[in-house]
Amino acid sequence: MATTPFIRVKDVTKIYGDTAVVDSVSFDIEKGSILAIIGPNGAGKSTMLKIIMGLLDPTSGDVSIDGKRPRDVRTRMGYVPQRFQFDEWLPMTVHEFLELSAHVSGVHDSEEDQLIRERLADVGVPDVGGKMLSQLSGGQLQRVMIARALLTQKDILLLDEPVAGIDVEGQRAMYELITDINREQGTTCILISHELDVVFRYATNVLCLNKKMLCHGLPKEAMTDDVLAEMYGHHTAHYHHELEHDCDIAQKRKNT
Ligand code: ADP
Repeated sequence: MATTPFIRVKDVTKIYGDTAVVDSVSFDIEKGSILAIIGPNGAGKSTMLKIIMGLLDPTSGDVSIDGKRPRDVRTRMGYVPQRFQFDEWLPMTVHEFLELSAHVSGVHDSEEDQLIRERLADVGVPDVGGKMLSQLSGGQLQRVMIARALLTQKDILLLDEPVAGIDVEGQRAMYELITDINREQGTTCILISHELDVVFRYATNVLCLNKKMLCHGLPKEAMTDDVLAEMYGHHTAHYHHELEHDCDIAQKRKNT
């Protein structure tokens, strides 16, 4: 008997004006997977993510999560935005910032401090609670945002280009953190990326989007030269084969 997929995106179209920015897209996401959504700028990736979160309604089609509408399971989803719009001089410590989120999530006052300390430790920045937000590096801030997204128990973590503005070493550490969260807590992760190597190294599944869905599946199988050429031009094909080799190594590492 066929089981219902954890997340089902069915024939989703989003139209702005007279343009379909997401065009008849259908795919499933298995529980516990890491799905990378890739595609050029303006391909509809953020729009797709917002539709999955129930922040935007599709013009037609629908999304179900565990058989429910996204809006009805919003509390089970943690979201990490691409950039955080906060005033550089916002006079607030990391701990105070997370307290605000804890209040919104309905965490009891007596549990708040402990929870915040635990989450900061989970994401590898146990000592930043007393720092002002404006003092954090890009990588630290990103970790704080992941701690915020996962403050209370979540099934799904959605990240919109989680490493924008972070150096290469920081990016690698960030993706490894996401992989650890996925493995240890079984959190289904959906992340947007521009980087092909992220897909090969860290994702279990890939969705290639350029308004229409160009591919979906296991990265090695789905990302053919034709798909890459359609998204990014022919010069990516060579790079792709080099990455595939690295990907084998990364997959072996994942499985050990
Ligand atoms: P991506 O994340 O792949 O860069 P987006 O989903 O942000 O792409 O945007 C896809 C297209 O939809 C872009 O052309 C963008 O300008 C357009 N778009 C996004 N949001 C709106 C909106 N609220 N109104 C009109 N057009 C929009």
